[in-house]
Amino acid sequence: MTATISMVFAAIGGAILGSFANVCIDRLPMRGSLRGRSQCDRCRRTLRWWELLPVISAMMLRHHCPRCGGGFAVRNTLVELGCAALLVGVTWGAGARPWQETVVLAFGLLVLLILACIDLERGVVPDVISIPVLVGIVLVRMGTAWQMSDGWVMHLGQVLLFGGVGAGWFWIQHRLSRGAWVGDGDIRVGALLGALFPGSLLAVALGAAYIVGGLIGGVLLATGLAQRKSRLPFVPFLFLGAVVAAMVGTSILEWYDFS
Ligand SMILES: [Zn+2]
Repeated sequence: MTATISMVFAAIGGAILGSFANVCIDRLPMRGSLRGRSQCDRCRRTLRWWELLPVISAMMLRHHCPRCGGGFAVRNTLVELGCAALLVGVTWGAGARPWQETVVLAFGLLVLLILACIDLERGVVPDVISIPVLVGIVLVRMGTAWQMSDGWVMHLGQVLLFGGVGAGWFWIQHRLSRGAWVGDGDIRVGALLGALFPGSLLAVALGAAYIVGGLIGGVLLATGLAQRKSRLPFVPFLFLGAVVAAMVGTSILEWYDFS
């Protein structure tokens, strides 16, 4: 019963965070302020509170502004549902982890979702998000390491090492391709991924990202929707890889070890 209640709270909390994530996706790349209510893109009217309820309002209004009939982006609802699913998934697996880990993981996945949407829509990875979040995760991890009576140097070293591995992996590709395969924003996301998964889970996240990216890239090439030279935004795949690592990564590693 308690588990069901916490799942319901996680879903509601996730949808509300998703609503905030949409504001970040819309405004941060333009360096806009996060304060102030959202407007209708067409008639510029400030939306009322009941038009801004996550998921529910969009369903009730059928993704259209009641005054001018302008469309509301379906992405908003998808992000809200995605964040709800993410928080439910992270809460589901929370039992085995210290609570600080769960908070860092949920936060990291939400930020990666925001970065993935921005990369998909605009082809950029804003440093205004990736760098402060990277510093934040390292600081929180330093705090957790500080509380450990033994092994804290090891723990902290691991975070810095794998952050470096994640960044280095993309830095090499960036250098080799002179920026054609991966942009320099991907280097920061690689560091973020390493700080989030300081251990063998990083390999799961990267592996899953390349498998999904390869499959989707292959389909896009085969159907002519992308040309060989088009640059695929890569952060969405890194986000999916992180979700795989967070949700089933440990099971994948155990299966690999023991079968
Ligand atoms: Zn309108």
